[in-house]
Amino acid sequence: MGFCILGSVAIAAKRALDHHGLDRVAVLDFDVHHGNGTQDLLWDDKRAFFASTQQMPLFPGTGKASETGAFGQVTNLPLAPQTGGVEARAAWQAICARLENWRPQLVIVSAGFDSHRADPLASLAWDESDFTAITRMICDTAAACSAPVVSALEGGYDLDALGRSVRAHVDVLTEVA
Ligand SMILES: [Zn+2]
Repeated sequence: MGFCILGSVAIAAKRALDHHGLDRVAVLDFDVHHGNGTQDLLWDDKRAFFASTQQMPLFPGTGKASETGAFGQVTNLPLAPQTGGVEARAAWQAICARLENWRPQLVIVSAGFDSHRADPLASLAWDESDFTAITRMICDTAAACSAPVVSALEGGYDLDALGRSVRAHVDVLTEVA
């Protein structure tokens, strides 16, 4: 619907399932826009867990909590404009609890940083420390399941905030356990 030509993260998940012998792959999306293409591509695949937070209302308009996938394996937690870090971290805590029960073998992150308070395309109010906290939750949950984490850069339209946020995210990804 305008931002992507290929659903790279969904393709990666399908590739892991169809060609690398995995049975359960999770895609986690904290980009401020709903991962509508990823959701469509994984909707009827019970081997794929998809969870997403997004500002609502906002383009592309999908991602209601009632959208739960053909097998209940999709989780959408829409956030109202101006939602800050406390609520964001609580949402991701809930997603990670569900993820841990699902026992992923691989976690792929749609890492968009346009939820930052400085972003000109949306109006959530996260900052770098929220990306640090959420990344840590994701990594801790994946580690509890012995699942590696792969992160794909997605949105982020204030370049200074994007740089700081990516740095916060990568710092956690590269922490030595
Ligand atoms: Zn986005």
